[in-house]
This record gives sequence, structure tokens and C-alpha cells, in this order.
Amino acid sequence: MNEQRLSVRLDRVAAHVPAGARLADIGSDHGYLLVALMNRGVIAAAVAGEVALTPFHSAQRTVRENGLSQRITVRLANGLAAIEPGDGITAISLCGMGGETIRDILDSGKAHLSGEERLILQPNGGEQPLRKWLMENGYRILCEEVLRENRFDYEIIVAERIGPAMYSAEELYFGPLQLQERSSAFLAKWQRILRLKQQTLTNFARARKAVPEEKVQEVAQQARWISELLAPGGERR
Ligand code: SAM
Repeated sequence: MNEQRLSVRLDRVAAHVPAGARLADIGSDHGYLLVALMNRGVIAAAVAGEVALTPFHSAQRTVRENGLSQRITVRLANGLAAIEPGDGITAISLCGMGGETIRDILDSGKAHLSGEERLILQPNGGEQPLRKWLMENGYRILCEEVLRENRFDYEIIVAERIGPAMYSAEELYFGPLQLQERSSAFLAKWQRILRLKQQTLTNFARARKAVPEEKVQEVAQQARWISELLAPGGERR
């Protein structure tokens, strides 16, 4: 992967960035997403935010080598602190981090959000707590996608603060739109997870005393939801 040829994962993230956006990519690492979007003429301006020095320098180098230093600002900053009021940011991407990390970055950086930005999130796990944060903070999920690359399942969640939405526990777990769409990538992902949950329950049963009952019940509940989802004519909420 490089700025000319994004991974399938980042290419799908790129597809959710509105034309003409002023995009802040937080945790930009190499900066490939922003440079690719700028070279494609999709975005008008961009901020790359990085908390760590090595990826910060890597993003600076990619931007400089592509002659984009006037249009992409690279900042060493923690989370949304990379965004300044004068940037006029209209979209924020947070990709390739755990869902809890993305949630914590959004929560601790609320002061930097105008509420007008589109959020384009690509969590690696932890989707449920991230969706819960979105719901509790007035965001509506506009688009969701599951994709598989290099034997990993990835999710993309696009949300905007356009009025409150109420999601059920199952919708927070699976994704409200994915639950309706039931794409083949989504169903295949949950087939794999069901096998893992069943294995976990077997392991719990062997070590019964060592595992808190609450944890056993939580995993059993999840396995039930997934089994219902995958049953012929399964759940359509
Ligand atoms: N976004 C790129 C992608 O999806 O390919 C890079 C993902 S990389 C696994 C995660 C990056 O997020 C790392 O470079 C890390 O330094 C950065 N990061 C983690 N926490 C951060 C924070 N609080 N603020 C800014 N960057 C952060």
C-alpha cells in the first residue's frame, strides 16, 4: 500500500468522504489516505493528526514528497486537538484503531467538534461501544460496511449529528443498517465469530469456577443473537 494505491480498507473509507470535504484524518500514520484523496481531487483541504513522532514524520514526508504541504497540514497532537477552529473541518476520519480508542478520542475531544462534521470511522473491533457513544451523543448512523482484506474483517461506520437515534442492544452489537442489509461479507464475518464464541463457551465450561458467571452469560447471549441472525430466515429487525 502507498498513497497511489490504497489498501481495499482505506479505499472503502475514501469512498465515504464527501466531494469537497475539508477532512481531518486523526491517527493518520503514513498520511496515505489524505494524500490519495487530495491527488484524486476529492478533498479541498486536510489536516493529518498524529500523536506519535515516527508516524508524524512519515505523514510529513508523504505530504512533502507529493508537493501538498500547502493543502495538507500535518500536526503532532493527541486526538481531536489536531483540529483548530480556523480549519473549517467538515469531515473527520478515524481509522485502524480499536473502537474503544476511537470512542475515547471522540469523547475527550468533544470541544473540537462543531457537530456539523461527518464522522467516518473504521474501528478494528469494539464497534459496539463506539456505536453506543454515537447514539448517546446524538449521532445517527448513515452508512455501514463490512469488508474483508488479508483474512481480517473490517467495519466502516459513517455517522452525522442529525438528530437522535435509538438503537436496540442487538443493533448496537451488529450495526443497525448491516442488520437490515445482511450483506454476504457481514454474514460471513458473524459465522466466523459464532465459531469463536462457541469455542469460548466450551473453554469457559471447562474452567467454570475461574470465569465470572456474568461473563459467561454475556458471551452466551452474544452467541444466541448470532445464531438467531444466521438461522434460515434469520432476524430481520
Ligand atoms: N489511520 C491509518 C490507517 O487506518 O491505516 C493508521 C492506523 S495506525 C494502526 C493507528 C495510528 O493512530 C498510529 O499511527 C497511532 O500513532 C495513531 N494514534 C493512536 N492514538 C492516537 C491519538 N490519540 N491521537 C492521534 N493519533 C493516534
